[in-house]
Amino acid sequence: VRTGLAAQLRTLEGAQYGRYKGLVGRWEMPGGLLLELVRGQSDPYAPPARVALHVPDRLAALPPELWRTATRRRALSSYLARQAAAAVRGEKALRVDAGGQEVLERSSCTVSGEDGSVTLRLGAALPGHGRRIDAREAERLLCQVLPRVAEQALHYASLDAAEVRRFVETVEDSVALREALAGRGLVGFVADGAVLPRRSGVDDQPATGSGVVPFTSPEQLRVTVELPHAGAVTGMGVPEGVNLVVGGGFHGKSTLLRALETGVWDHVPGDGRELVVSRSETVKLRAEDGRRVERVDVHAFVDHLPDGSDTSDFSTQNASGSTSQAASLCEAVEAGARVLLIDEDTAATNLMIRDARMQALVAKDREPLTPLVDTIRSLHRDHGVSTVLVMGGSGDYLEVADRVVMMDAYRPSDVTARAREIAAVPTGRHAEAESFPGVVARVPDPSSLDAEVRGRPRIRARGEDVLSFGDHEVDLRAVEQIADPRQVTGIGLALELMVRRGLLDGQRTLGQALDQLDELLADGATGPLLSIRDEDFAVPRRFETAAAINRVRGLRMLR
Ligand code: ADP
Ligand code: MG
Repeated sequence: VRTGLAAQLRTLEGAQYGRYKGLVGRWEMPGGLLLELVRGQSDPYAPPARVALHVPDRLAALPPELWRTATRRRALSSYLARQAAAAVRGEKALRVDAGGQEVLERSSCTVSGEDGSVTLRLGAALPGHGRRIDAREAERLLCQVLPRVAEQALHYASLDAAEVRRFVETVEDSVALREALAGRGLVGFVADGAVLPRRSGVDDQPATGSGVVPFTSPEQLRVTVELPHAGAVTGMGVPEGVNLVVGGGFHGKSTLLRALETGVWDHVPGDGRELVVSRSETVKLRAEDGRRVERVDVHAFVDHLPDGSDTSDFSTQNASGSTSQAASLCEAVEAGARVLLIDEDTAATNLMIRDARMQALVAKDREPLTPLVDTIRSLHRDHGVSTVLVMGGSGDYLEVADRVVMMDAYRPSDVTARAREIAAVPTGRHAEAESFPGVVARVPDPSSLDAEVRGRPRIRARGEDVLSFGDHEVDLRAVEQIADPRQVTGIGLALELMVRRGLLDGQRTLGQALDQLDELLADGATGPLLSIRDEDFAVPRRFETAAAINRVRGLRMLR
């Protein structure tokens, strides 16, 4: 640890820009703050330098009850990152990655579980006059602005104690609610009073105004859960099994499903979805024509293709809507999904339904597809995989649904009994499959996922939903549960970690490798991922990482 950063900087006024690199390392600042220049910046146009501010516990002085558990630390860190982002606003050279409506574990801010000290990581564009060092501005940024940011945002004495507490308790309640689901035979919960609609398709803040209808649970599905801070909350429990959401167009079906989709994450106070949760093994599926598929057994859904290919070991460079969705379903179950969410708006119709008249017109031996309606019950009964399906356009699912919820002007009601009556009248449709056969566990070929080319990392986030992987691009636009663009970076790092630690060894199945990854990341994911590279990232779930692996164009599976 060195001292005298300000004096050192003054000696660099007008020097070659590259000499900033000599500052890399740890500096003790007046007052006891530690500033670490983690990575320099080679020229004024290169990506910003990385700075870590370490605020020792005696300066941060955060009460231990705010950081005692991993959940509280994640919430507290998220709160502190938001404060820090606000404190650097107006400083163009500095950027703190604070995130949006979700409270994710991220690299920008961490609180130590040992002593409650805080580390803030941020990008700092080091100032220059052309290719010469602008030392005065650098001194202002590093020696004045950053210490002020630490004091304003990361010292407990400067914070609104009630607001911090509320933030942490909100997240803790969401986690408790999510953890209560399995024991009650539920896959999801939507609290009474929750606000599900968003401001717009590109603005994730809650919708406001008199037109917003807060959620009200139908009596038959109403449950009460006791939470550590909020006390008893009531709302709609979504049970295990096959759940169908019906109702007219524009009545709020997709909005309900999207709330469940994002219910695997926790939300900030005031979001409206703080008490809307789903099981952590919930995966949203959709059709994604054009994607690559590598050796997936999709024969439960696709068989007798006109080209005679073997669909129990199916690969393609260019999947159709239906085959892509069939593959995604099998891959999700392979990765450990226990709840699947499907919306008619983004599903492949021919994978979902094939009605009596079409069965009469097109004989089964001319139709490669077996619709999900014929295996969805077995998915739950034989494999423990529940579903929540939005389907306003076809009644075929009334027969196989355990529960049917109707959305009417944004208000749900339980119409299961009426749906049973209607389904009792035969349509002449016959089932085309007895059961879902299960999924085949595949073994990735590690050489096809090699993360380095001539010592340089091949995996990089490109924009908001693309990961570049060597010469290929992995398109993650259809992976809808990625909650934050920085999670794409996190997925890239997780992939690289899997490769470097040899988790993909040509023996382990993908599922086993993901188990090992979860284990590696269990005591805090930021440390291991930072050991790959210091970047702004948010930690992804295994399902998003698996989705990325499955979309790598060069991926090979050994089986
Ligand atoms: P559906 O899938 O049934 O066609 P959507 O869920 O897409 O309907 O919702 C249609 C519109 O209604 C969207 O603009 C959505 O934001 C809005 N909306 C959904 N739920 C509510 C609600 N509870 N209160 C007010 N507006 C809502
Ligand atoms: Mg819809």
